[in-house]
Amino acid sequence: MPIYKAPVDDTLFILNDVLGIERYHNLPGFADASPDTVAAIVGEAAKLAEEVLFPINLSGDQEGCKRHDDGSVTVPKGFKQAFGRYREGGWLGLAAPEEFGGQGLPYTLHTAVGEFMSAANMSLMMYPGLTQGAIAAILVHGSEEQKRTYLPKMVDGTWTGTMNLTEPHCGTDLGLLRAKAVPNGDGSYRISGQKIFISAGEHDMAENIIHLVLARIEGAPEGVKGISLFIVPKYELDDSGEPGERNGVSCGAIEHKMGIHGNSTCVMNYDEATGHLIGAENKGLSAMFVMMNEARLAVGMQGLAIAEIAYQNAANYARERIQGRSLSGPKAPDKKADPIIVHPDVRRTLMTIKAFNEAGRAFTLWTALKSDIAHRSDSEEERQAADDILGLMTPILKGVMTDKGFDHAVMAQQVFGGHGYIEEHGMSQYVRDARIAMIYEGANGIQALDLVGRKLAMNGGRAVMALFKEIGDFCEENRNDEKLSGYTKALKKGLNDLQAATMWFMQNAMAKPDNAGAGSTDYMHLFGLVVLGYMWARMAKTAEEKLAAGETARADYLNNKLITAKFFMERIMPETALRKARIEAGADTLMALDAAAF
Ligand SMILES: Cc1cc2nc3c(=O)[nH]c(=O)nc-3n(C[C@H](O)[C@H](O)[C@H](O)COP(=O)(O)OP(=O)(O)OC[C@H]3O[C@@H](n4cnc5c(N)ncnc54)[C@H](O)[C@@H]3O)c2cc1C
Repeated sequence: MPIYKAPVDDTLFILNDVLGIERYHNLPGFADASPDTVAAIVGEAAKLAEEVLFPINLSGDQEGCKRHDDGSVTVPKGFKQAFGRYREGGWLGLAAPEEFGGQGLPYTLHTAVGEFMSAANMSLMMYPGLTQGAIAAILVHGSEEQKRTYLPKMVDGTWTGTMNLTEPHCGTDLGLLRAKAVPNGDGSYRISGQKIFISAGEHDMAENIIHLVLARIEGAPEGVKGISLFIVPKYELDDSGEPGERNGVSCGAIEHKMGIHGNSTCVMNYDEATGHLIGAENKGLSAMFVMMNEARLAVGMQGLAIAEIAYQNAANYARERIQGRSLSGPKAPDKKADPIIVHPDVRRTLMTIKAFNEAGRAFTLWTALKSDIAHRSDSEEERQAADDILGLMTPILKGVMTDKGFDHAVMAQQVFGGHGYIEEHGMSQYVRDARIAMIYEGANGIQALDLVGRKLAMNGGRAVMALFKEIGDFCEENRNDEKLSGYTKALKKGLNDLQAATMWFMQNAMAKPDNAGAGSTDYMHLFGLVVLGYMWARMAKTAEEKLAAGETARADYLNNKLITAKFFMERIMPETALRKARIEAGADTLMALDAAAF
């Protein structure tokens, strides 16, 4: 049977020792996040993940969601009770504003515990995950009345939320959207059309479902300039604000899909449903972007979460499975063969995943901290600098962590040989679940284009230049420290490749945009490698400092960090040169074949 243990120590090392979140006590909510409180919250989250969410992960995958003839949907056995425990624990509102019933704690902390819960049960955690995105959009763009009406019940999880963008003919290109909105004359609208692939669209875990729906108001311009965002509750609210009449929205079908079987992916039919505009007419896309950006960070974290649980199971299996002898002589002479963890190639697999996961965790939490600073600092300058990095990192975190999350789920499955391919060990579920994270919230190819086409040049390249300087300065400051120079040398090489690739785009992509598209995915991964390398260099520096200060209690943990950091720099960082070479090959060969020749 699969196992899962939340990586509590690693999370606390990053939060307290590497990022030093205590230093941000001047930000709202951070003063309440003392190291003791953080440790207590992280510990409670680990318990919930391990004891409540994880035990129904495999059964939820096997059972899936069921749609009934009346359009209602039931979730797998145990999901309702587990969601009840999650809700009662106040987890949904951990970082939400106190005025709407949340706890106002750092988003960084919310992200840290979110990893545990998504690893333990990704399908179940998508119900509150979508709700969090909807809360964010209403917070930023909703009227005061809308906030008072919807947020308290969403923050406490009595009602859940969804996001409705996709239509059968309209996925990446939202300008093609057809759902329409007709004014009722009383400020509300009648929404009609069909949305597909709507996560958590219908289920039996909440008293109401608050759908956020993109639609075009009659007579609005074609394309993305004519899209508005609406709140469409499953049950319209009565005068006391409680669910009343059933609205004209229903689940027409649930999709039969590759993974995340415990999450209901719905076809939603809107048949003159009553909707309420959020924000200004025709500005729906920017309102929806609040939700999408939040969701992109959460999806990047899903990549990490699945890679972590897959890794833990693979490492456990490799210690137990007996096959063959070590190349350097028997390691378990009392047995007929050695455990497969003695084989270098199995270790290569495990170390690769471990090195990505630990740096990925630091990357995710570092980015979440930027989000906290961008939203909570009272210094305009600090807010802007953090927001720049947050915007730049969003497509990289989403794209790189989910591409690697899937690759690494497959690698972990490989450790099981044929036993990974059958369902019993749960490895097949991780591979199937991880796959969707590369697709939704903007397919990863689109994340790469967002990075190269928009984020790089934003504000005259301010964000990218600031980050190059930060990493370059770190390398320079630690260059002569003999304990750190190995890490900084490798990181500097990676940074040089990244800067050269950036320059190549500036010189070759303006006149020929296909060059940007041809190199975008490699560039996103090249950037990701450098940021992950930066995280490793910072973690190595912290580990060296702690060891030098005589931290004996964590000596094994800290020494293991240094070994993994070295592995990353030796075996993974050099990939930056390959990525750079591919970028510099340009688009010519790629675009040479006629469409019919493929
Ligand atoms: C399980 C599941 C859950 C989902 N949940 C939701 C949800 O809750 N709400 C919601 O609204 N949607 C949801 N989606 C939809 C999802 O976000 C879309 O599938 C995704 O945005 C891609 O759209 P598409 O499938 O139409 O692909 P297309 O847009 O047709 O794209 C096909 C391929 O072409 C590539 N491509 C397209 N345009 C370009 C371009 N200009 N340049 C380069 N490459 C390009 C894409 O990267 C992609 O690989 C979900 C989907 C699934 C499968």
